Amino acid sequence: MEDILGKAMSLLREHPLCDSCLGRQFAMLGYGITNGERGRALKTILLLDAHLRLGAGDEGALEDLRALASNGFFEPARRLLEKLGHRAPPSPAECRICRGITSRIGELASRALEALRSYEFSNLLVGVRLPAEVEEAEDALRAEFGLEHGETLRNELSREIGKMLVGELGVPVEHRKPDVVVLIEPFEGSVEVWPSPVFVAGRYRKLVRGIPQAKWVCVSCGGRGCPKCGWQGKLYPTSVSELITEPIVEAFRGEDAAFHAAGREDIDARMLGRGRPFVVEVKRPRKRKVDLSWLEEEVNKRAGGLVSVSGLRYVDRDFVRRMKAERAEKVYELVVKFDRPVSDDELKALEEAFSNIRVRQRTPLRVLHRRPDKVRTRMVRELEVLGRLGPDSVRLRIRCDGGLYVKELVSGDGGRTRPSISEFIKAGARVLELDVVDVLMEGV
Ligand SMILES: [Zn+2]
Ligand SMILES: [Zn+2]
Repeated sequence: MEDILGKAMSLLREHPLCDSCLGRQFAMLGYGITNGERGRALKTILLLDAHLRLGAGDEGALEDLRALASNGFFEPARRLLEKLGHRAPPSPAECRICRGITSRIGELASRALEALRSYEFSNLLVGVRLPAEVEEAEDALRAEFGLEHGETLRNELSREIGKMLVGELGVPVEHRKPDVVVLIEPFEGSVEVWPSPVFVAGRYRKLVRGIPQAKWVCVSCGGRGCPKCGWQGKLYPTSVSELITEPIVEAFRGEDAAFHAAGREDIDARMLGRGRPFVVEVKRPRKRKVDLSWLEEEVNKRAGGLVSVSGLRYVDRDFVRRMKAERAEKVYELVVKFDRPVSDDELKALEEAFSNIRVRQRTPLRVLHRRPDKVRTRMVRELEVLGRLGPDSVRLRIRCDGGLYVKELVSGDGGRTRPSISEFIKAGARVLELDVVDVLMEGV
């Protein structure tokens, strides 16, 4: 008791502190009362104590009453001084720690409510950012007076504003994965809303050749538009990523999006079968709940037969990481043309030779301009001759590790891929048509 009151009085002798900022230095003591109530109670007891001591002729008591009236902004101390015929000193302009912010918590909360109004969310987190010197001054005060039971101004502000928002909105505070963070800078007077991204997963099929997966930005102008790209800023009119993300971003009223996929197919390859797993990350969404079966139809309608999506569902950021880390096996169907007729026996031997075989590939010449030159090893699990299209051309199905360059597996890429189909048959071989027909990924 002595200690708390002694410390509170020494604080007020030296520093102007409002009720909240005094009470906050003892915030861990007691429960279910606000810091403002704590501070007010301390000042009241100190006033009674000083009054008692004054009557007993204690010299210091008058100074303490003066400190309570000025540094304590405590009206009852001022009234007592005047009643006893003493002049009350003027109060400093503002509280040393909060500069009056704690009296504006309600106002900050209503501004946060206003900012949150156009967002959809089912939980939230309040963040408060204070100028470094404010936090440092508070730390210094605690060290100077040996205060061990306090909390920080930042803590109090975020908790109290959080309580008001929760009361108004009826949604809980979520610390780990909040739908929105409302970031308040009370000293700057700014309130910002940071909605966390929405992740929508599915599989896509690319039904035509000639569309890149990602938007291909024009290298001549960097996307600003120039004669070379016909003022489009990109080299292809559209891409898988644009066709899928645009309707999704609109539906969630997001500001931007990232398109994540489990690998990619070449521009001239289709993506068929069940499709390739992807995730659209919608950034700064205003809506978080969209009917995904409606959205699936909407994407497919707008993609006009170029691309289609299926199995749309909500996932989290962790799913994106897992999807990208997994090197899923791929199944391809391709038309291969040899530069001479090949016999059925040769094709049979090919099937046997390319079952569970390890292939070493140096980075293909065609991508060497954008990828480092290195050797990678991938397995071909299964090669099946589906049928003949002529004496020198066949349709194949190949199941292999993700990341294997299939065109080079066929051609040998001038000896950079070994073994290769061309090397095995001892004839030139190239891919005429390539489709990805499956991406084997568990749970995706
Ligand atoms: Zn204060
Ligand atoms: Zn350009």
